[in-house]
Amino acid sequence: MVRRQKTKTVCTIGPSTEEAEVMEAMMRAGMDVARLNFSHGDFSYHGTLIKRLRSVAAKIGHPITIMADLPGPKMRIGTFAREPVQLLQGGRFLLTALKIEGDETTVYCPIPELFEAVRPGHRLFLNDGMIELEVEQIRDSEIECKIVVGGVLRSRKGLNAPYIDLGASAFTARDRECLEFALANGVDAVSQSFVGSAEDVMAVRKAAEECGGRPFVIAKIERADVLDRLDEVIEAADGIMIARGDLGVEIPIEEIAVIQKRIAALARRRGRPVITATQMLESMTRNIRPTRAEATDVANAIIDGTDAVMLSEESAMGKYPVEALKTLIRIAIATESMIDMAALRSNGCNSADGNNEGAQWTAEEAVARAMNILAMSFDSPAIICPTDSGATARRIARFRMPQWIVAMSQSKVTLRGLSFSYGVLPLHIKQKPSGWNDMVKQLVRELGISGGRHLLLIEGPSKAHPNANHRIEMIPFND
Ligand code: PGA
Ligand code: MN
Repeated sequence: MVRRQKTKTVCTIGPSTEEAEVMEAMMRAGMDVARLNFSHGDFSYHGTLIKRLRSVAAKIGHPITIMADLPGPKMRIGTFAREPVQLLQGGRFLLTALKIEGDETTVYCPIPELFEAVRPGHRLFLNDGMIELEVEQIRDSEIECKIVVGGVLRSRKGLNAPYIDLGASAFTARDRECLEFALANGVDAVSQSFVGSAEDVMAVRKAAEECGGRPFVIAKIERADVLDRLDEVIEAADGIMIARGDLGVEIPIEEIAVIQKRIAALARRRGRPVITATQMLESMTRNIRPTRAEATDVANAIIDGTDAVMLSEESAMGKYPVEALKTLIRIAIATESMIDMAALRSNGCNSADGNNEGAQWTAEEAVARAMNILAMSFDSPAIICPTDSGATARRIARFRMPQWIVAMSQSKVTLRGLSFSYGVLPLHIKQKPSGWNDMVKQLVRELGISGGRHLLLIEGPSKAHPNANHRIEMIPFND
């Protein structure tokens, strides 16, 4: 078997990984998804990266999924005449609507909605939450704040305003431009930043359809107020990113671990893949080895039921991008082989509210659960899953069965979407055979999967065949 880890990897591409040789090394190491961060770099840079990724992938025959990360309504302060500036605890700091060069006392804040929505007592955070302000007074063009926690500040640093409803859509005009560019250049997936509701996800989907695209849409969970609407957002999205960078500013940092587990569980029950992101191996930006805490964090994310783990600065601007990815993968292999995923298996099928009694299952759900039981009791090396939309494969992947799920599809779009899902091996087939037996046996052998007496197969109706049977088959397999 070429691939050993069931956990998927998402790697942010940037200055450290922009050369073709490094991209190739990342793919050979096991990069599943390349993430382009549209908050940085211009379109021509991203266009070059996309072309280069595709050509390297074609050269070595590696299936790469490319994800465009849309900036969303990330708020930033203006610039300083001289920097850095030092904000001192207990002092005052003004955010002004006037476009001036800032100093220790005042900075331009280019967000008109904030001046409308903010109230005395609200908390604002600057520079990834390093600096905390409390709003004291609001005048027409000024918000006067007390500096609760001071620190060093530079131009264009991020501003977070947790729980302050700015009434704006998370899908901005800039996002639309980025989306159009990304789709025109053939990206497979988009992640939307600062999603606040299901409508935000739908806005991305609609805009994509308008330009003839059907990307896999990942909702980034990074706002405090979206935690009350997780269900609807997860339902609307194809997948979820636990974006701990901004989330860790918006909610108290001590709650991150528990919230991460909660989001992962909710998404998994709905069969939506989860990416756990940010600072996973942050110290590897500078060092060739991770800290104990980081290695533990990656393993814990997998034990919590994440489908994919992500590198941000580690691969975008770090000194050791390939080593960081190899480290992620080594941790994944060790964790998957040493941990019985039984806990995830048994709660993967609970309804979202955790109450399983007397629930009316859909046929799809019932068959997926039956497969879970079968996979546990049968000595079988793989589950074959012919799939048009990918939904069947995702519905069973969430049980974290010990077998590989070989998802076969004629649709490359579907297969790219499945590259986020734990334990799924996407496989392209030119056409559907009339009977699966001979074909799957051969393919499974080609993949290097062995052992067991039966291959399991699950298939249901599809758009093309809406009245087809739901079926599970056991294909004799002697190796
Ligand atoms: P970002 O998103 O890196 O685009 O900010 C991830 C996060 O906030 O964790
Ligand atoms: Mn973010």
